[in-house]
Order: sequence, then structure tokens, then C-alpha cells
Amino acid sequence: ASGYSLLRDPHHNKGLAFNEKERDSYYLRGLLPPTVISQELQVKKMMCSIRQYQVPLQKYMAMMDLQELNERLFYKLLIDNVEELLPVVYTPTVGEACQKYGSIFRRPQGLFISLKEKGKIHEVLRNWPQRDIQVIVVTDGERILGLGDLGCQGMGIPIGKLSLYTALGGVRPSACLPVTIDVGTNNEQLLNDEFYIGLRRRRATGQARNLIEYAELMHEFMSAVKQNYGEKVLIQFEDFANHNAFDLLAKYGTTHLVFNDDIQGTASVVLAGLVAALKVVGGTLADHRFLFLGAGEAGTGIAELIALEISKQTNMPLEEARKKISLVDSKGLIVKSRIDSLQHFKKPWAHDHEPIKKLVDAVNGIKPTVLIGTSGVGRTFTKEVVEAMAALNEKPIIFSLSNPTSQSECTAEEAYTWSQGRAIFASGSPFDPVEYKGRVFVPGQANNAYIFPGLGLGLIMSGAIRVHDDMLLAASEALAAQVTQENFDKGLIYPPFRNIRKISAHIAASVAAKAYELGLATRQPQPKDLVKYAEHCMYNPAYQSYR
Ligand code: NAP
Ligand code: MN
Repeated sequence: ASGYSLLRDPHHNKGLAFNEKERDSYYLRGLLPPTVISQELQVKKMMCSIRQYQVPLQKYMAMMDLQELNERLFYKLLIDNVEELLPVVYTPTVGEACQKYGSIFRRPQGLFISLKEKGKIHEVLRNWPQRDIQVIVVTDGERILGLGDLGCQGMGIPIGKLSLYTALGGVRPSACLPVTIDVGTNNEQLLNDEFYIGLRRRRATGQARNLIEYAELMHEFMSAVKQNYGEKVLIQFEDFANHNAFDLLAKYGTTHLVFNDDIQGTASVVLAGLVAALKVVGGTLADHRFLFLGAGEAGTGIAELIALEISKQTNMPLEEARKKISLVDSKGLIVKSRIDSLQHFKKPWAHDHEPIKKLVDAVNGIKPTVLIGTSGVGRTFTKEVVEAMAALNEKPIIFSLSNPTSQSECTAEEAYTWSQGRAIFASGSPFDPVEYKGRVFVPGQANNAYIFPGLGLGLIMSGAIRVHDDMLLAASEALAAQVTQENFDKGLIYPPFRNIRKISAHIAASVAAKAYELGLATRQPQPKDLVKYAEHCMYNPAYQSYR
């Protein structure tokens, strides 16, 4: 290979970090200015240049350019500056990037599979340059973050999530495959946008006639993936609308290694926060009562995992454990009398109770100790609601999980002020620390990025062939165990992101241990020290020397 093409190969390019010997051996003389610098200095230089951009989207584009130019430098930058760059390569900036994907699009990343490729998906997968795939993140773009249907432009999400699989969980970049399934979009604005990159047709979901087309395409994709990459490839469903998400997970959960981050990843990260919060508040999960605003993927996913953990801890039947949890949707409290008109994933939560319309009445009626917002609608934890929680509880646990920041049920400041500094608070989008009556409260962020990279690494390193709910519980416990007394003293119920690679290694080890225990691991023999093994498996972005 020529030096010129080496500089244009993102997997091998080191830019000015090519040393004198390499410049001689690889025909690079003259193609680079004379200076030789270290990767550390390159990181410093890139961070300076990224910090000069005022607009987050420009930072995002600079990061994407770097990923296409010099992959190892991209990951080194992301790992060394994770707290600063996570909001750039992932939420909230990635949301804006998806909205404008058509116009910022330079070189295509990831694999696009549209209805045009129906019948040819096996061949399409063969067009991807890498054969040894370990993780696929796939979206159909119908519910991108809290932004709704972005069609084919949802591709930013699988790309962003997979860069976190590598940076935070240490999965090799070449083993990651981002996929967007394009079955059209119902987003009028995109359909009328001359720069739109996707299929210009309405979505093949919703009406029964089209549903078959959708199911067939998904099925062909799932079969082709297994055929091409075997049964140990992890397929993460991401940002599907709830009318497909639960069904896809149930349908393929018995035949493939599948995971839905919106349902299961959220559940695991929130349960971890609750387990940690109980160390401050006291009592076991079974001693608490839970009320949710929002009964979709996130709400019912979290509720189910809490119920499962309670039933494991107490030997209580799952149906009994579920009674400790109530959910409110757009029509009010979910109760028995509504059962016939409920979507199937809500039915387990229809308890015997009189109908209640307003959240504040549900708080006063049910007297929860924990209030969790997952409705996607902002400003719904009003002063009245938070005060009711504070009147009922010495230390009310309040999680405002809706994203982005504008949709948060209440701000950190509101939660602390309205509860006179007594709330244990966490949110989906980050909030700055709050000073209240001379004390500084640091709100926790229930970010899914705590869980899925470590969970994925644990599945891969054990060669797991199925995801089991007990693995989600193991991941929650491992994360909660990483919160130190020093963190608790600041009001934190999640550990700082700075240590995420170490946290991921612990989560991976716990998940792998569970996979072995359940007989779902295929990598034999089981490594003695799973934490060490996880660390050993993790991708390291330091340059390799070429000889
Ligand atoms: P989803 O499946 O669409 O569910 C939304 C639920 O909220 C539905 O049950 C809906 O009721 C209900 N709802 C909508 N408007 C409401 C209102 N005014 N009052 C009461 N309930 C209302 O969405 P999702 O995937 O669960 O996501 C929901 C939110 O959680 C999003 O903002 C997302 O960003 C956030 N989230 C956060 C995290 C995190 O913090 N780590 C993770 C995942 C998701 P109907 O069923 O009656 O329509
Ligand atoms: Mn998601």
C-alpha cells in the first residue's frame, strides 16, 4: 500500500504521529510536514480546536470528521475527555445532528437497509467491509430520542451508540455495525425536504396492509444477521416506536441475542439508581411504593424490572410485586376498569383502583415513596406534585427522566427547592449542581450509557447466546456497587462518568458471571478473574507501531 492511501485509511492513519522509521518504510516521506508528535499532543491539539467551536453541532461534525480520518485518535479523545464529549457524540447533540442529517451528510457511515433492499439483505450485509461483527445497533428511526419520527436520518443514533460501545465498553470498532432500516417516514417535513436522504414514502407500519411488509423486512434482516455473523452477535434495538419495540423484543428474544436499550437498558440504569438511593433513604425495594408518569417503553420497562427484583428478594409472586407499582398514562391512572382498551404492555399494571385523572390526585391517593417521570412531557412535576411527595415522605425519591432537557418533568433546582432540600433526585438529561440553603446538591444522571456498553462487553466476552433479565439485574447491582460514600455525601446516586471504563469492566464481569451461571455462556473455560478478563478484552486506542 502507498503512503498516500495509508494517510487516508482511518483504521491505520496516525497523522503526524508516524515516526521517522515508519515514514521511511511506508513511503510517507514528503507527505507529512517534518515534525513528529505524540498521540497525547494530538489529543491536546484536537481538544483545543473542538473547544473553539461555540455551536455544539460544529463540535459534533468535527468529531465525525476525526472518526473518518483517524479512528484511534477519535477514541483516545473520547475516552480521555468522556464527560465533555459524551454530550457531543451522543444526546443531546446527536439529536440535532439527526434532524439535520440530510444537509450535514458527507461520507455515509453505517449500513442503510431500505425496502428497496428487500430480498437482498444477505448480499447487502456482504457489502460491509468487516466480517467479524459482534454488536449491531439497529433503528427504524420512528422514535428518535424525544424527537419523534426522523426516518432514515435516525442513522446518527446507531453510530453514536456504537462509538460508546467502543469508548466506554471497549468493544473493537471494527466489530461494530450501525444499521438503519428505512421503511419510509410519516414526518411531513422530511417528506417535503428536497435534501431528505431516505425513502420518500409513508412508513410501512401502522396499517395492517403495510405491517406485513415491515415484519417481512425485519425478519429477513434478523435471519440474514444470524446467517452472516452467527448466533453470538448482539443486536441492540434502538429508538423503535413502542408499537413495534415490545413485539420485536418478544419475537426475537428466543432465537437471537437481542437487547432493547429503551426498555431494558433504561430499566437497568434506573433500578441501579434506586438501589443506590435506598442506601440513603433506607428500607428494601419491597418497602417502597412506586408511581410512574408515562407507561411506554421506559415506564413499563423500569416497572417490570423493579417488580422482578422485588419478587426475587422476597420470594413474592411477580403479580404481587407488581401491585407495589402504579402507572399513569395520557388518560390517567392505569386501572382494571380500563383493561380492554389498554395496549398489551400496560395490562399487567391494571390494578383494582378507582380511576384518577390528575397526577397530583394519584400521588395523594397512592402515597408513593418514589415518583418517576417517563412521559416525554416536560413541566409535569409541578410545585403541587413535588410538595405532595415531600409532605408524604421524609426523603422523597424523584426521577425526572424525560429527554431532552426541555421535556424534563421538573428541573433539579425545582426538585430540591420545592422539597426543602429533601428530595433524592436524578434526571435523564444532565443538570448542573444546585445550591440550596448553603448546601450543594449534585443531581444524578440516569444515563443509559452507564449500562449498555458494559452489558454488551459482558455478553461478548462470555460468548452469551441470549439476554436474560437476571443479567439486567446483575448489571444494576454492579453499577449501584460503584457508588462510593463520597458520592453519596454529595447527593449522588450514580458514580462519576470519569471512571466509566472501570465501571463497565465491573458490569461486564457481573453480566458474564450471570451468563455462566445460567448456562448461556459459550466461551469455555470460564476465566478465573472476570474483572481482569474484561479489562484485558477492552479495546485500547493507543497507536500501535508498524513494522
Ligand atoms: P413512549 O413509549 O412513547 O411512552 C410515553 C408514555 O408517556 C406513554 O405511556 C404515554 O401515554 C405517556 N404520556 C404522554 N403524554 C402524557 C401526559 N401528558 N401525561 C401522562 N402520560 C403521558 O416513550 P418512552 O420510550 O417510554 O420514552 C419516554 C420518555 O422517557 C422520553 O422523553 C425519553 O427521552 C425518556 N427516557 C429517558 C431515559 C433515561 O433517562 N435514561 C431512557 C429512556 C427514555 P399513552 O400511552 O396514553 O400515549
Ligand atoms: Mn434510545
